[in-house]
Amino acid sequence: MDRVRIFDTTLRDGEQSPGYGMTAEQKLTLARQLEELGVDVIEAGFPAASAEDLEGCRQICRVVKTATVAALARCVTGDIESVAKSLEPAAHARLHVFFGTSQIHLDAKTGLNEDQALEKIIEAVRRGVKLFDDVEFSPEDATRTNVDFLLKVVQAVVDEGVQVVNIPDTVGYTTPVEYQARIEMLKQKIRGIDKVTLSTHCHNDLGLAVANSLAGVAGGARQIECTINGIGERAGNASLEEIVMALNVRNDIMPYETGVKTELLYKSSQLLSAVTGVGVQRNKAVVGQNAFAHESGVHQQGMLNDRRSYEIMTPESVGSPPSQLVLGRHSGRKALAARLKDLGHPVDSATLNLVYDRFLQAVADGSTLDDDALISLVLDNRPPKAPPYQINLIQVISGTVKPLTATVQLTRDGNTYAECALGEGPLEAACTAIDKITGYAGKIVNYELRAVGEGRDAQGEVSVRVTVNDKTFSGRAVGDDIVEASVRAYLSAMNKFLSVTADVKPPQVERTTLAPRIASQSQEGAA
Ligand code: MN
Repeated sequence: MDRVRIFDTTLRDGEQSPGYGMTAEQKLTLARQLEELGVDVIEAGFPAASAEDLEGCRQICRVVKTATVAALARCVTGDIESVAKSLEPAAHARLHVFFGTSQIHLDAKTGLNEDQALEKIIEAVRRGVKLFDDVEFSPEDATRTNVDFLLKVVQAVVDEGVQVVNIPDTVGYTTPVEYQARIEMLKQKIRGIDKVTLSTHCHNDLGLAVANSLAGVAGGARQIECTINGIGERAGNASLEEIVMALNVRNDIMPYETGVKTELLYKSSQLLSAVTGVGVQRNKAVVGQNAFAHESGVHQQGMLNDRRSYEIMTPESVGSPPSQLVLGRHSGRKALAARLKDLGHPVDSATLNLVYDRFLQAVADGSTLDDDALISLVLDNRPPKAPPYQINLIQVISGTVKPLTATVQLTRDGNTYAECALGEGPLEAACTAIDKITGYAGKIVNYELRAVGEGRDAQGEVSVRVTVNDKTFSGRAVGDDIVEASVRAYLSAMNKFLSVTADVKPPQVERTTLAPRIASQSQEGAA
């Protein structure tokens, strides 16, 4: 099958956009993931930008073994030398050199006329091919470049011996039909074009980056430049996961293969979010939280019968968590019954009618229900299986020296239990101490902190979702101290679990006796 090469520029075009700056160490972590993911080219940076960028590229070259590592340069001798220095340790190195060729870029950036620009491009490319076996040239803003000048420039760099010619839609201006025609025209008119790879680099200003990239492939391009989560200048670049899955799912009409291991797409997306602290939009194609979630009753019924009724690809194929049937006011009886059965609380049809009425009341405001709330719909009025734990005392020693320590005292049925634990953060330490007492390990799968009020003395409202034994419970708490509020929210979720679980373990630590003064003070605090 025809191979389309995936050129990832998350660490260059993505990294240079607002909010996505990364340290050299973070870039290295992502470069390892990109290589594992199976991209063909990793653009590591723009070494002339700073000494740190240059050193970052060198570090990436040392760990990347199979992928080609590329670095960017302007048509300036110093830039090309910086790239040579930065890619020196690479197993496979590529110089990526660019020059703005549209009239707007010529006027606004260099003040050169077309002939002067062409001369500068030839000079730089000639220097590049002497230093590198693999050179890519980009006429920046190619989609707004005068066609005759674009032909002249591309012919010149092909004659100089570059391996790749990239046709950037730098400002996200083109459309699929126009872009495909431009690539086809180059394929027809440039002598020796069969010896070079044509490449796409599309921006998403009109939301057309992925569509334009695929149109470029239809026109004859065999390399796509893209980024994880579609990050990049302004509205971003073509999204790698969307490109790869479009080629994968619609291989019937786009018979091209890539080297990407699709089951690592979700993990790669999550890693980028974790590193940059910027989440993915909920309804993002392929890797968004809603990409495999269904709430409407009609859809859920279809999904329960045959997943293909509302999913064109499986979450497993991109390494995403399993499809979710989210229970909200659009959900039907069947979906509710199926979920209750999964949770270990099967109901007969008479009970289901009753429970479904309660369910509709609970979600009338448009909210969705967590597992704990669903179970409580069934268990309504029944006494909890275990009395809840209450916080008597929390003490966390926090600071820059890791690990941190936390001491937690809980009371239950009039008895007090104390435990301490270590953690990288205060919440981890305190929750581990709680787990040691209850004997169950909870995993925080969602954590939200919101300031209530303004100013430094604002209160913190913490909402958590905690998974224990494959069931999810929510907890919420408000307080002046966000660590304390977080721990209270966590304990409230754990208490919900303990109140419905079938085999409640007794506390896992010995009872302690407290000095009465401490006990009475902290009880006041808890009130
Ligand atoms: Mn770009």
